[in-house]
Amino acid sequence: MNSRETSKGRLIQEHRLVGVPFIESPNQNERPDPSDIQLVVIHAISLPPGQFETPGVTQLFTNTLDPEAHPYYAEIEALRVSAHLLIQRSGAITQYVAFDRRAWHAGISVWRGREVCNDFSIGIEVEGTEDQPFEPIQYDALNQVLDALLEAYPQLSRETIAGHQDIAPGRKWDPGPFFEWGRIGLGAVRA
Ligand SMILES: [Zn+2]
Repeated sequence: MNSRETSKGRLIQEHRLVGVPFIESPNQNERPDPSDIQLVVIHAISLPPGQFETPGVTQLFTNTLDPEAHPYYAEIEALRVSAHLLIQRSGAITQYVAFDRRAWHAGISVWRGREVCNDFSIGIEVEGTEDQPFEPIQYDALNQVLDALLEAYPQLSRETIAGHQDIAPGRKWDPGPFFEWGRIGLGAVRA
């Protein structure tokens, strides 16, 4: 066992995290340049809002939300969105889009003067809300994922991680005031 295969380590092979469920989202397409991966975008989500460990996020990303299951689902059911990864409250990770493909998570966005962040970013949803702390085990999982991404994609670094709120200010709140950037090695100012 080498240092990259410790019990805490995560490996990426063929643009997928090894040992993680892969539930393919239809909401993806080719990147303009598959090798152009410059940014990691951190999001927060919960479905229905404020509820955790439901199948809602997977249903949203696979276009299988039942609009009658919750009033909010009726509002968002027509959305066609995805992220590369979800980290649930338990720390469980699910992948929906291979990293060399373009997931649909950022929307109208700009990072360091460059628009359409979906073209060149990896989107990670952390299950949470804007009014309560995230779980320590979610930061553990996120750090494992970030270590693996930084190793697999050399253009990425701890300097190239932003919140959705940073690349779509005023339009998006997530991951919000309770996300502790220091736990992933970053200060308060990201973008
Ligand atoms: Zn977001």
